[in-house]
Amino acid sequence: MSKKGRLIVVSGTSGAGKGTIIGALMAEHPDEYVLSVSATTRAARVGEEHGVHYFFLSHDEFDAMIERGEFLEHAEYVGNKYGTPAKWVEERLNEGRDVILEIEVQGAMNVKKQYPNALLIFVTAPDAESLKSRLAGRGTETDEVINKRMKRAAQESDDIDAYDYIVINDDIEECVKTVHSIIVSNKCLKKNN
Ligand code: 5GP
Repeated sequence: MSKKGRLIVVSGTSGAGKGTIIGALMAEHPDEYVLSVSATTRAARVGEEHGVHYFFLSHDEFDAMIERGEFLEHAEYVGNKYGTPAKWVEERLNEGRDVILEIEVQGAMNVKKQYPNALLIFVTAPDAESLKSRLAGRGTETDEVINKRMKRAAQESDDIDAYDYIVINDDIEECVKTVHSIIVSNKCLKKNN
């Protein structure tokens, strides 16, 4: 039987640039990782596509998936629900693929309970000011949502202890290299061999 793949969880404060980092990581190492597409009840932003960035669902559709036990984990984030479809992830792991989940901290804690060997990486902006200016610069959220996301970022900092690695994103290219190195060295850990 082939070896099972690993779960790699990447979390980070909203606006820390984790989406950009993961996008670059996938582009540079297309054969090494697969990225799970989550379901969410939030509205699509301009340029986001159903089935590519997220599966955009109504609250009823999302709740029906919860009822049917179709999520590996799910959580609420600033008024919307987000969840990782279990079947797709489990199939890829069974094929021996390393699966990246880009999820927030509650979800990450749930994944860790079910998969104690999952690798947890937290990406953060250098400071609160750069976080806020990145969020505002994105131009996709209202001031109210930005403020809520900033508050949530402060709360999330309390859970950082549970992560294996923290990466400060002050330079995207460096950050992508660092995240890749972390994943490669984690593979070589004695317990993972
Ligand atoms: P955004 O609305 O900015 O795309 O995502 C908001 C937050 O939800 C981010 O921290 C993102 O990582 C997280 N998120 C995205 N998909 C999932 C998921 O399937 N489960 C959980 N728990 N969080 C998710």
